[in-house]
Amino acid sequence: MALHSVSQDQGSESTAGLDGISSLLAAIVDSSHDAIISKTLDGIITSWNPAAERMFGYTAAEAVGQSIRLIIPSDRQTEEDYVLSKVRKGERVDHFETIRQRKDGGRIHISLTVSPIRNAQGVVVGASKIAHDISERKTLELLLSSIVTSSDDAIISKTLDGIITSWNTGAEKMFGYASAEVVGKSIRLIIPADRQGEEDFVLDRIRRGEKVDHFETIRQTKDGRMLNISLTVSPVRDCYGILVGASKIARDITVKKWMENELEVTRRRLTEALASRDQFFAVAAHELRNPLNVLSILWQIPDPSRSGRVIEKSRVQLDRLKSLIDRLLDISRVRSGTLELDRQKLDLGILVREVAGRFATTNPDRQISLQCDPRIEVNWDRLRIDEVLTNLVSNAIKYGLNKPIEVSASGNTDHVEVMVKDHGIGIAADDLKRIFEPFERVEELSQVKGLGMGLWITKQVVKAHGGTIWVESELGHGSAFVARLPRDRV
Ligand code: ADP
Repeated sequence: MALHSVSQDQGSESTAGLDGISSLLAAIVDSSHDAIISKTLDGIITSWNPAAERMFGYTAAEAVGQSIRLIIPSDRQTEEDYVLSKVRKGERVDHFETIRQRKDGGRIHISLTVSPIRNAQGVVVGASKIAHDISERKTLELLLSSIVTSSDDAIISKTLDGIITSWNTGAEKMFGYASAEVVGKSIRLIIPADRQGEEDFVLDRIRRGEKVDHFETIRQTKDGRMLNISLTVSPVRDCYGILVGASKIARDITVKKWMENELEVTRRRLTEALASRDQFFAVAAHELRNPLNVLSILWQIPDPSRSGRVIEKSRVQLDRLKSLIDRLLDISRVRSGTLELDRQKLDLGILVREVAGRFATTNPDRQISLQCDPRIEVNWDRLRIDEVLTNLVSNAIKYGLNKPIEVSASGNTDHVEVMVKDHGIGIAADDLKRIFEPFERVEELSQVKGLGMGLWITKQVVKAHGGTIWVESELGHGSAFVARLPRDRV
């Protein structure tokens, strides 16, 4: 039959020539990897080459004479009616992708080309059918499509003009647009206004056949959220190697970016904390050495009858050393969580007066006014609360610019509030929280000595009593530290 059509084209070949061509064609048909089958207009198989035997599992002897429907699955039988109707009209069916059934019941994907066979008079008398096995390609296609579908990354394809041609489930989830909403539209839809230039850059590279790799940028979701994404855009070529578009894989790196940021903040904090700690050791060593220096000078004097003044000066220096060492011990106790309270009944008013009195003696030029409710009975750790008051008043003196200081204590049946107020340098809003953290000091104050641990210890002691401490302050207008504690255990 193929021979017939050739003889039509050739016109007047000799019989010998025809024989030669006939055997050449027979050899081609026999050695073809594609199934080549001929059939009548009723669909009865008239020839069946070796590749058809391999592809469908029937031998030529089994197949020839049978209806071609033998290899058509029951749910696809109507396809044969369609194919035959086209062939009868002398038309051809080209690269028709379908499924056929093997003798063993297995199914194979094939690409079918069916052409009419004409007799010498040009009348269609049958059909030749070439079936190409595309199972492998189909498997790969399915595999690829399941990867694309199940990917958490957005996988998008677009034309060289940036028109979206495919949009996977990952893209739907990431950007909030359904595939039907965006296919056919420009990819610029998800690009924020201030980044539209990036698309020109990407398309430019794609048109040059270049890839854009791990490009970190921001894209906008349907509901207006900005996502940090990492983008890889690759050129897509057709089977002839011609550039036809681009495939784009976008990974949401918002969490990664956030973590990087957090890491950077933590790293910076750690560096600062280490620097503060170094500074802490330097100040602590200095503070410890000062009284020791004074002591060693005092006791170097070869004076057999040491005067009371030397002894008194020594006692002051020893007290300084003791309080510094106590503070260092407190820091380590709070840090290791072993700060224990020794609660006892006490009158806060008396304690406040005592502390203020101490400061008044050592700072006779400072005006410290007191305002306490009568009889504020509490069940607190006396030494620790003394420490809290001492820290607050000592800061008010250090940072109070020699202006008056007010200390007050008042309470109701449940709580007591203690306030230490100065009219000194004040604290900037940004620093209000941070100064209660360990080693934190306000930078510009480096000329005023301090370990940056006082307020932290104060806060820990107040917390251990079940209370809170805060500061109200305005830069340049002074500060008021308020500690609010329950009278008794909470
Ligand atoms: P320091 O030993 O540095 O005084 P603190 O923990 O007691 O440590 O205080 C931390 C920081 O808080 C101080 O370095 C200072 O910057 C700020 N500060 C504390 N009290 C006052 C205050 N009354 N007025 C202004 N700033 C203060």
